[in-house]
Amino acid sequence: MRLALFQFGQEADTFNPSPTTMDRFEGYGLYEGQEFLDKMVGSGTVGGFQAAVEASGTAIEVVPLSRGWAGAGGRITAEALHFFEDRLRRNLAAAGQIDGLAMHLHGACSADGLDDVEGQLLAIARELLGPDVPVVLTLDHHANITQRKIDNCHLLVGFRTQPHDPFETGIASTELLIRLVGGEIRPVTAWRKLRLISHQEQYLTSGGPMKVWFDRARELERDPRVLTISNFPMQPWLDVEEGGWATVVVTDGDPELAERLADEMADLAWSLRAEYQVTTSVPPDVAVRDADGDAGLVILSDTGDSVFGGSAGDSTALIEAMLRVGITGRALVPLVDAGAVAALADLALGSTATVSLGGSISGFFRPLEVTGVVRRSGPGHMVLQDFFHPEFDMGRTVIFEVGQVTILLTEEAGIGGNHPAVYRAFGIEPAECRMVVLKTASNFQYYTPFATRVLRVDTVGPTQSDIKTLKWERIPRPMYPLESPATWRG
Ligand SMILES: [Zn+2]
Repeated sequence: MRLALFQFGQEADTFNPSPTTMDRFEGYGLYEGQEFLDKMVGSGTVGGFQAAVEASGTAIEVVPLSRGWAGAGGRITAEALHFFEDRLRRNLAAAGQIDGLAMHLHGACSADGLDDVEGQLLAIARELLGPDVPVVLTLDHHANITQRKIDNCHLLVGFRTQPHDPFETGIASTELLIRLVGGEIRPVTAWRKLRLISHQEQYLTSGGPMKVWFDRARELERDPRVLTISNFPMQPWLDVEEGGWATVVVTDGDPELAERLADEMADLAWSLRAEYQVTTSVPPDVAVRDADGDAGLVILSDTGDSVFGGSAGDSTALIEAMLRVGITGRALVPLVDAGAVAALADLALGSTATVSLGGSISGFFRPLEVTGVVRRSGPGHMVLQDFFHPEFDMGRTVIFEVGQVTILLTEEAGIGGNHPAVYRAFGIEPAECRMVVLKTASNFQYYTPFATRVLRVDTVGPTQSDIKTLKWERIPRPMYPLESPATWRG
């Protein structure tokens, strides 16, 4: 059995006007062939693929095609889109005869001029392979499910948890691919698109309404006729045609059961629609004061400027609040500003400088003039063992201290300071600080082992919780909670 493997991922935030270019993909590593497999052993969906192949007991030749990854950000450029379209065509032409294709995609990528990038890549693969070669799709559950994605794969599997479980999902989708190629299963898909979106404050699957929805999928999967059920609470800041949540049910040759369960899963999400909209975030000054009174490390989630949700990481809102409040404990804040890096990177360590910080990319934030001390500077290329992606690049990086606020100033967003290793690489121990600003609404797992609690901060930006005031133009209407449609069918 020859199985080919292709990975491509980017999560678009269409409210961030800064385009995602090839540089970003290069920073995360553009691997091809054997290097692609070697770099991803034990990591992410591709690590799960390799583990499932190994455990299958089947003689499988893996044909590694290529990997491109860019995290979250504005729409990818037409140049990047064409690069990956050409690469997939070239990879598949060079692969020769294959028995199955594993497509590991994010599912919420949009390009300049094209809303559904993954639908396009799947259509290219389908055109080259013909209708009979099994194609199995592995997706992030923040994907936007479209007719084109459904039409161009044999089955799809999304992540089961938030924070995500890419390794386990990679195993699950690969086991189904092997059974499909071996003729053991006959997948039948039913899916429902919901007129529903939400901010990400209720996206954790460990509790609340998201747990109810995802737990029900796991329960229904105990029926041996059900191959897999995937729920897709779409990335909220994606203004595209066909946008909205979805649920996808795959049964083994039982279309009637698939249709019935797809309705049930859609009904369940719809019944919880108001609960998904509940916010717990507090104003910046309140959050900063509260955190400053704590004895341990408090995580401040900058909901409006979530780099993991596609924002640019150029918000100064929390730095401004910390300076205004006059915090007494040490705070860590990441900030993306190539101009400020250029002004500070070549100064001697210990130099005092006055610079304008932030507000340079997304158009949501205002620059802030501050005076501080340059503590460290150097390259921001990072290699991490316990992260979804083996490497990423923040560009040149400066540690700039403004009173009690220590700023991780970078040229590129990287992962927005969302992993403590980013600070440790520059000699800073987050566990010894009073508060750390994370640019994510959900991925606190790298800090929670030594943090006392998480405070969500109500900030504006391309990933703000107040989704109603964003300028929606392309998403289908009516859409809950922008309007109040009577049913999830719109
Ligand atoms: Zn996700």
